[in-house]
Amino acid sequence: MTPFDHVMPDAVESALADIGRAPLPTPDSARFLAGGTNLLDLMKADLTRPTRLVDVHRLPLKAIEPTADGGLSLGAMATNAETAAHPLVRSRHPLLAAAILAGASPQIRNMATNGGNLLQRTRCSYFYDAKVPCNKREPGSGCPARNGLAKQLAILGSSEQCIATHPSDFCVGLAALDATVHVRSQRGSRRIPMLQFHRLPGDRPELDTELAPDELITHITLPPAPFTRHTTYLKLRERASYAFALVSVAAALQLDERGRITEARIALGGVAHKPWRLPEAEALLQGREATPAAFGEAARRLLQGAQAHGAPGTDNAFKIPLAERAVVRALELAVAGELTNTGPLAGLPVDSVRREPS
Ligand SMILES: Cc1cc2nc3c(=O)[nH]c(=O)nc-3n(C[C@H](O)[C@H](O)[C@H](O)COP(=O)(O)OP(=O)(O)OC[C@H]3O[C@@H](n4cnc5c(N)ncnc54)[C@H](O)[C@@H]3O)c2cc1C
Repeated sequence: MTPFDHVMPDAVESALADIGRAPLPTPDSARFLAGGTNLLDLMKADLTRPTRLVDVHRLPLKAIEPTADGGLSLGAMATNAETAAHPLVRSRHPLLAAAILAGASPQIRNMATNGGNLLQRTRCSYFYDAKVPCNKREPGSGCPARNGLAKQLAILGSSEQCIATHPSDFCVGLAALDATVHVRSQRGSRRIPMLQFHRLPGDRPELDTELAPDELITHITLPPAPFTRHTTYLKLRERASYAFALVSVAAALQLDERGRITEARIALGGVAHKPWRLPEAEALLQGREATPAAFGEAARRLLQGAQAHGAPGTDNAFKIPLAERAVVRALELAVAGELTNTGPLAGLPVDSVRREPS
């Protein structure tokens, strides 16, 4: 591991000054350190070599609190475990609690923070293997994944250069709920809508997000949500726990008194370089009865243009029908008020989770 400095400021302004100190931050110079569950693994594997770590543990960024407009603010330094257990998250956004609890393990969720979760890197095995080329790790070196082991990799929005997926569950929930990411640097503050926060790989696969290297995520806001009863996070993976999604679906519906859909949100995880949402697919459900036929139409639209990659036998063609069926199933579960198929909240009706935050 490359030697590095470690500083632990206790004010946001000091952290911004520390990260902004010359030499200007690049992925191989200064980095913020939060829970360390991803960054330290990457450093130990010598895949990233920051020379300065600005540890953000002492920053006052842990609050989970209501916002003036009736929404909710999630501090960047609140852990994933604290966020999933928070009564306001459970009562207003049970979908988000279910998405978080579908990820990783209790130990990791106790360390992992909300800010770090947004910036975790892909789990593409070629990215983690320094002995093989990878355009994301070393731009211009190539992408063996395209004709290799691709089951965890993208079927939507990929490029010639990269077929990596974003591995987060939390981010899929945030995308469905139209969250906003709030960031600060010495240049000022800005807000980035969640759907624009992560990038598609295009010809710059080394960039995962729109965040500049010296920008600190301070918090994430969620607008007031009408989606509480009819929401589901469905995660399909190779084993029942402690595995990244092959496909996941965050589905949220608002139904009128006759059971017709007045609003729908569908976000997919495990299929692209970012959580995948398509407003046209959601619009197909507007005003419709909540039937499998309508759900199938929306699912096919959402998966339109999907493309398989990988060598014969280890390709990911199976993910296209899997994702279509997962969307239909998630919407059916949302209508039934079943919150999730996995994690500690599996099998619980949405309403019981809203009443009994742990
Ligand atoms: C074995 C294992 C299984 C996992 N399974 C899942 C899973 O199923 N689903 C899932 O969603 N996740 C899973 N994870 C990933 C885990 O959720 C992430 O590692 C974690 O959320 C990262 O948060 P952290 O606080 O530890 O970030 P760190 O590792 O500290 O940092 C990650 C990145 O974020 C940057 N960063 C951190 N905080 C900020 C901030 N406030 N502002 C700007 N930059 C910041 C760091 O510089 C770094 O680049 C798994 C991880 C492991 C190790």
